[in-house]
Amino acid sequence: MTYQTRNDPFANQALADALNEAIQKHGGDLFNNCGNCSHMNYPGPPVCKLFNMTPPIQTIMKGCKNYNDAKEIPF
Ligand code: SF4
Repeated sequence: MTYQTRNDPFANQALADALNEAIQKHGGDLFNNCGNCSHMNYPGPPVCKLFNMTPPIQTIMKGCKNYNDAKEIPF
């Protein structure tokens, strides 16, 4: 089913509220994944340097408890 929200301010607000709630619920970890983890081999093949293997797709999408923000200043 396709939703057209461009001209519906109520639908737009409902979408914004749902996104805001999801972001608040998950805190800052909503966008944590292997693609922005400092342990991911980059550039090169998608191998987690911590576990020396390519993570399963479920982990790639959501990260794991060992996630470390690659953009975070370490001091
Ligand atoms: S999130 Fe976990 S599995 Fe993914 S690269 Fe980082 S440490 Fe490895």
